Amino acid sequence: MDGLDAPVTRSTCPYCGVGCGVLLRADGAGGLGVTGDPDHPANQGRLCSKGSALGETVGLDDRLLVPQVGGQDWSWDSALDLVATRLRATIAAHGPDSVAFYVSGQLLTEDYYVANKLMKGFIGSANIDTNSRLCMASTVAGHKRAFGTDTVPGTYEDLDQADLIVLVGSNMAWCHPVLFQRVQAARATNPDLKLVVVDPRRTASCVGADLHLPLRSGTDVALFNGLLAQIDQRGLIDPGFAAHLEGLEDAVAAACADDPSVTGLDPADLAAFYEMWCSTQKVVTVFSQGVNQSTSGTDKVGSILNCHLATGRIGQPGLGPLSVTGQPNAMGGREVGGLANMLACHMNLENSGHRQAVRSFWDAPAMPDAPGLKAVEMFQGVASGKIKALWVIHTNPAVSLPDAGAVADAIAACPFTIVSDITAHTDTARLADVLLPATAWAEKSGTVTNSDRTISRQRAVLPAPGEAKDDWHILAEVGQRMGWPAAFDYAGPSEIFREHAALSAIAAGFGLDFDISGLMNLSDLDYDRLSPTRWPVSKTGARARFFADGQFYTPSGKGRLQAVRYRPPAAKTAPRFPYRLNTGRVRDQWHTMTRTAKSPRLSAHLAEPYLEIHPQDARDLNLAPAALVQVTAPSGRTSLLRALITDAVRPGEVFAPMHWTGETAPCARIDTVVAAATDPISGQPESKASVVALSPYRARWYGFVVSAGALSPKAAYWARMRTTAGWRAELADQTAPQDWEGYFRDLTGLGKAHIQSVSDRARTQHRFAAFEGDRLVAALFVAPEPIALTRDYLAGLPGTQAGAEVLSGQAPVGRVDPGPVVCSCFGVGINTLVTAIEGDGLLSVEAVGAALQAGTNCGSCRSEIAQLIERHQVREAAE
Ligand code: SF4
Repeated sequence: MDGLDAPVTRSTCPYCGVGCGVLLRADGAGGLGVTGDPDHPANQGRLCSKGSALGETVGLDDRLLVPQVGGQDWSWDSALDLVATRLRATIAAHGPDSVAFYVSGQLLTEDYYVANKLMKGFIGSANIDTNSRLCMASTVAGHKRAFGTDTVPGTYEDLDQADLIVLVGSNMAWCHPVLFQRVQAARATNPDLKLVVVDPRRTASCVGADLHLPLRSGTDVALFNGLLAQIDQRGLIDPGFAAHLEGLEDAVAAACADDPSVTGLDPADLAAFYEMWCSTQKVVTVFSQGVNQSTSGTDKVGSILNCHLATGRIGQPGLGPLSVTGQPNAMGGREVGGLANMLACHMNLENSGHRQAVRSFWDAPAMPDAPGLKAVEMFQGVASGKIKALWVIHTNPAVSLPDAGAVADAIAACPFTIVSDITAHTDTARLADVLLPATAWAEKSGTVTNSDRTISRQRAVLPAPGEAKDDWHILAEVGQRMGWPAAFDYAGPSEIFREHAALSAIAAGFGLDFDISGLMNLSDLDYDRLSPTRWPVSKTGARARFFADGQFYTPSGKGRLQAVRYRPPAAKTAPRFPYRLNTGRVRDQWHTMTRTAKSPRLSAHLAEPYLEIHPQDARDLNLAPAALVQVTAPSGRTSLLRALITDAVRPGEVFAPMHWTGETAPCARIDTVVAAATDPISGQPESKASVVALSPYRARWYGFVVSAGALSPKAAYWARMRTTAGWRAELADQTAPQDWEGYFRDLTGLGKAHIQSVSDRARTQHRFAAFEGDRLVAALFVAPEPIALTRDYLAGLPGTQAGAEVLSGQAPVGRVDPGPVVCSCFGVGINTLVTAIEGDGLLSVEAVGAALQAGTNCGSCRSEIAQLIERHQVREAAE
């Protein structure tokens, strides 16, 4: 069937918390066409580079298709019986708290609901936590402290109506690109709309901002306490709204006792920020992982909420705090109580009335009365032997949790580990006793909730491959086999959704915010047709906006300001560990790359892990551009990365992306050197302020290889990525192989290919090209220093009739090496853009777009194009 003629299915992008609507067209041959849904309120047709490339990630090449036990294929019946029997036996021998589930913001709300019900209501433990703990637990804790419930008061429409948008700890241009485009569109419509970015790094989000505040890592509380003190001094506390607040005096006193100079910011910039914030009524403060991933994350959130509460700037169009989540359904997980310290529908585990109500609604045999282990504690519990059976669902903690090496060791030693996932090729799945094949996003149905409380349907458009099952189904089967057939006898996700909605009516009866009781009687057809719907949706008529009326969910009904003081990050820099390590994300990859790395287009943006380091620090360390640098944690664990020397980071601070894994670059798993320090209230790890030592890695040789077939690299340093022609990899080591041709054949698996080579053994310079017939199938370049090659040109050659001239390592005269891809929609590389900007004088993003199409589709690269133009103009001005 032609993709354009195929029926259209409306669904939701599975990557980030923006929750963009997508239109899916299955071509009948396993392929999928993906476009933005113009009718979805989150994106109005826009998609970013990741969303646009979704169709390239649905291939089945590395899918887990049947259950496996001990590496052998098993039937579903036997595997599920084994899981149920082992969980029951573990509980009988060691109690319910010896079992733990570690789940994911990738789960649909219905999956999450069943997992939470099984653990909290039937197994009788609260040991269920989610990777959302790493993403926004501090926001949950901050909201609950200030509002009494985990309520996001803002909406995306507020961005359209604001006069000042402040991004705090959010590289929105890369991590929530469609929201960033929305901000840019609002700025184009309203030239008075100001944008301020608060971030220690100069990121793509800073391009064109009115003000960038590169504060010292972890000093956000001091910044916003300074703002609250200004609000107080300028008489901007809203006296009418203050009647609905408590804790105001103490919060102001604490704020006045803090010194914003600890931020390290230029006093003039600080004053400009305070002036902008204080003189603008319609302010939206957007915050994300830079705020949350901190040992003072809950206090950082509190310091932001304090400013909005004190001025009454909350809950009205165009103003208020707005947290944005990393994962597509982090919010859904919060709603069903997927965190170890919550009950379903925003009810509280520690509230006996709430516990009793949920227990009776579920007719549950058990209900814990205390929070379970939060993510970091959970894996410490696995390491100590307290947890004896662990079920990991759609996440990869052996890479993504702090102190990831210790987490991997703990999982390896756990007596019984189950992993449900779409692939067996993850660092965590490799450690499992039982692997259960789950359906992927385009194969499953249910709902997700995005960052502004909009519930959207995800709809199956592709058939489940092999024997893969939906997560709710797997969990329900285990629940039934553990002895609770009636409680887990679901016919499908619509039935689970109705049960969740009915439970929310009970939550609403307690006066809580989360109420979707108006949807509890949806027919299957209505559920199927459900259009994006922002909660609350009450049976009895709901509040359109939260908190503008001064009504909060605290015992007193008042909003609670917090007296918070700046605390430095948990780890202190010291002479042996003088650098502060920040971790984060790149534009075109998602989490541990289990999906995005399947797309050569996305992989061409940044093909290798790297460490951003300031030129001054690079000089001190004697690091040349493209050198390798070893990052060492106080734990002794290390990571090896390519140095990217840039003044986008502050001196003494370094940044590394968190995506690379045992599959893609085992030496660059950055979370192995991130300390497992957590916020005392939220339990969220401090992923942005570890301390590390840096040292140059003196490799004896450096290599670059391209191949039509898969690569099996063996070197102290390697990083591989897919390309349109196959694979590419960077290599380096301190010991050199004796037999370089044998090394090349092992690396590429090309035992019989015809090989041409040039070598200078004395200078460790070797070049090999392998041919099958008249086709080039692989090439390897080795040198004693990082090699200057036209890499992106070479990466496209395998499978072509390129001849021995490939050994030059350069594009032939007249052929341009496009360089790393900036515009992934149209495959426009950085060299092409630089030529257009510097050579052809195209000095606006629009002019570049008109000439090269770059930036004219999804728009995710527009900030980088603007950055290139800005750099060129700065250079020109300096000359
Ligand atoms: Fe998906 Fe991009 Fe939208 Fe996020 S911003 S939901 S990754 S299309």
